[in-house]
Amino acid sequence: AITLKHVQKTFADGTVALKPQNLHIEKGEILVLLGPSGCGKTTTLRLIAGLEFCDPGGQILFGDRDVTNIAIEQRRVGMVFQSYALFPNMNVSENIGYGLRVRGESKALRAQKIEEMLALFDLQPYAHRHIDQLSGGQRQRVALARAIVTEPEVLLLDEPLSALDAFLKKRLRTDINALLKRLGITAVYVTHDQEEAMAMGDRIAVLDHGEIVQIGSAQDIYHAPNSAFVANFIGHMN
Ligand code: ATP
Repeated sequence: AITLKHVQKTFADGTVALKPQNLHIEKGEILVLLGPSGCGKTTTLRLIAGLEFCDPGGQILFGDRDVTNIAIEQRRVGMVFQSYALFPNMNVSENIGYGLRVRGESKALRAQKIEEMLALFDLQPYAHRHIDQLSGGQRQRVALARAIVTEPEVLLLDEPLSALDAFLKKRLRTDINALLKRLGITAVYVTHDQEEAMAMGDRIAVLDHGEIVQIGSAQDIYHAPNSAFVANFIGHMN
């Protein structure tokens, strides 16, 4: 489980990207962070990742472990961020095995894990291809494989499907959801797309101006929005 206690983020220029927030994500849960541009979704994800640190007084726990001041390398997070691109000079297998190599895992173990991932994501035919020879959907599957091969405590996804066409988006979100559920992975999934949030999340946290204004199941949020903001934001299904 991932717990945020009184987590706030003020940037150097004084911007308060996140007001003090409490959040508990159960083990195996997929929590979606949903909200308009600038509401603090990516900041929340970066705080959980350890790419940013929260203001003094906040606390972030992975299970019982306090990771508030722990660097990203020691947090055991998997990331699929748009900005966190695949390595173009490595082939698919090398990309997937990268984290294991950095950790100093043996060649035999790396080969076995890479094989498992290639099978899981139907990527066997592309094992030796370079990244620029793959389609967008294939690249996203490599990115996912690379993120989960190290068995992270939490998987963080920031708009992972935003660059894909509508058809692929729909298919991949169903695939990703099924996979995360099957593997019991705890995940935080950022999107500004209401339909994607509904399809993906066990629970959805709606953010507005650095605050979680409502959190609940897709059903709860859709049928019982607690404010005009949530109603408007969720109501615009397209
Ligand atoms: P989007 O959907 O557009 O990616 P978001 O919900 O992910 O938006 P954040 O990136 O978390 O939003 O940004 C939240 C707020 O913090 C915004 O007002 C943004 O301008 C501000 N912000 C983000 N990074 C910094 C920074 N390094 N310095 C100052 N302000 C920042």
